[in-house]
Amino acid sequence: MTTQTKAFAIVTSVVFICCLLGIVTRPLSFLAFFWPANAALLALFMRFPQLNVFSGWLGAFIAYMMADLLTGNYFELTLFLTLSNLLTVAVSLFFINYFKINYRNYNKGFTFLYLFAICAFAGCLAGAVFAVFTIPHVPNTFMSTDRLWIDFGMWWTSELVNAILIIPLILAMPTWTEFKHAVYDRRHKQYPISHIFPLIAIFICVLMTYLLSGPGALLYPLAALIWAALSYRLFSVAVINFAVLLATYHSLNQFYLSESSDAYLSTAISVRIGLCMLSLAPLILCIISQNRHELFKQVLYLANHDSLTRAMTRRYFFQQSEQLLQNIKRQPFSIIMLDIDHFKNLNDQHGHYAGDLVLQHFARTVQHNLRNKDLFGRIGGEEFVIFLQNVKYQEAYNIAERIRNVTENSPISIHGKAPLHITVSIGITHQDAFDTAEHPTIQSLINNADDALYHAKEHGRNQVVSFN
Ligand code: GH3
Ligand code: MG
Ligand code: MG
Repeated sequence: MTTQTKAFAIVTSVVFICCLLGIVTRPLSFLAFFWPANAALLALFMRFPQLNVFSGWLGAFIAYMMADLLTGNYFELTLFLTLSNLLTVAVSLFFINYFKINYRNYNKGFTFLYLFAICAFAGCLAGAVFAVFTIPHVPNTFMSTDRLWIDFGMWWTSELVNAILIIPLILAMPTWTEFKHAVYDRRHKQYPISHIFPLIAIFICVLMTYLLSGPGALLYPLAALIWAALSYRLFSVAVINFAVLLATYHSLNQFYLSESSDAYLSTAISVRIGLCMLSLAPLILCIISQNRHELFKQVLYLANHDSLTRAMTRRYFFQQSEQLLQNIKRQPFSIIMLDIDHFKNLNDQHGHYAGDLVLQHFARTVQHNLRNKDLFGRIGGEEFVIFLQNVKYQEAYNIAERIRNVTENSPISIHGKAPLHITVSIGITHQDAFDTAEHPTIQSLINNADDALYHAKEHGRNQVVSFN
C-alpha cells in the first residue's frame, strides 16, 4: 500500500467510526455534546504527520459525509457540517505550525497547554463561527438565526470538551512496545496497595457529585485528580479525566435540569467550560511532574556515575556496596580491583584524549562481562572495582580472567592511528557467607583486593591474583 492509500484508509476508518459514535450517543441527552471525530482527526494528524496528506483530508471529508448521509441527514446540511468540522482541524493545525509548536513534544513543559489554547481559541472557535453563520441558512436545519449566541456557545463548548477528552487520549496512547512493557511491569513489579488510593478517592468524589449535588460539585474531584496526576502516567490520567468529565457532567446535568430548566442552555455552557478547566489542570500537572521526575532521575544518575566511563563514582560504589553487604549475609561474594597497565606511558605517547577513549573502551568491556546486579565503579584514574554478588570463588576468578583476556585481545582503534593494545592487572578477594557478627567493611575488602593487585603488578602485570 502506498503512503497516500494508507493515509486514506486509516483516516476514513477512524473518522467514520468516531462520527458513528457521536451519532449513536446523541439520544443520550447528557452526551449530546459528544462528537469525537474532530478532536480525533486533529490528534491523529498531530501524532502521525504522515497521515496529514491530501488523501488523508479526502478520506476525512468522505467519512464525515458518509456517516451523516447514511444516518439520514440531508446533503446540504451534511456538507456545511462537514466543512465546519474540517475547518476546526485545519485552523488548529495552521496555528500550531504558525506558532512553531512542536506538538510531538506535547508531554514537555507547557506544550499541551499551548496546544489546547490554540484548539480552543483558533480551531474550535473558527469551526463554531463558520457553523452558526452557515448552518441556520441551509434547508432542513436544526439551528435558527434568532438564537445565534446560544448555538455558538453550545457548538464551541462541545468542541472544547471533545478536545480535552480526546486529544490527550490519542497523543498519550502507548505504542505496542510501551504497552507490552507496561503489562510486563504490572506482572513483575509489586505495587503497594496505596497505589490505587487516588483512584478510589476519585470514585468517591465523583459519587459525591451525585449525592451532594450543587454548584460546588464541579470541584469535588479536583483534589483527587491532582493526587492521581502526581501518581499515575499521562495516559492513565487522560483515561481517568475522560471518565470523571463524563460522570460529573452527567450528575451536574441532572441537577441543573431539575433545578433550573429555563436556564439549561446557559448553565450547560458554563458547566462545560468549568469541566474543561477541571480536566486541564491534572493533565498539565501530570506532564510537569513526570518531567521533573525524569530530570531528577537524570541528575541523580549524573551525580552517581562517572561522566567519562559511566561506571559508578567512588562514593556511590561504596554506598551501594555497604547496602549490599547488609542484605547478602548468607551469600558468597567477591571484590575485584582492576588497574590498567602502564597507562601513564599510553597517555605520554598518544595523548590524553586517546587515554580517555581507552578508559571508555575498557569500562565498556568490563560492563559487557558483568551481570546487571553486579556493581562496577571507578575509584581512581585508571583503577576500577567490581562487586560480584552470589558467586563462588572459581566463578569470580573466571570472570576476572575473561576480562583480562578480552582486554588484552581487543585492541582499540582510534581514528587515523594504529590500534592501541592494553593489558590490565587484577586482584581478587573472595568472601564466603558470613554471620552478622563478622561483618567486614567494604574498605577492608578493597584493601585486600588491592593487596592482590599489587602482587599482580609485582609479578609482571597482565594477570589475575587472588588474596589469601
Ligand atoms: P601501572 O602499570 O603500575 O598501573 O602504571 P600506570 O602508568 O598505569 O600507573 P600510574 O598510577 O603511574 O598512572 C596512572 C595514569 O593515569 C596517570 C594519569 O595521568 C592517568 N589518568 C588518570 N585519570 C585519567 C583520565 O581521566 N584520563 C586520562 N587520559 N588519563 C588519566
Ligand atoms: Mg595503572
Ligand atoms: Mg593506578
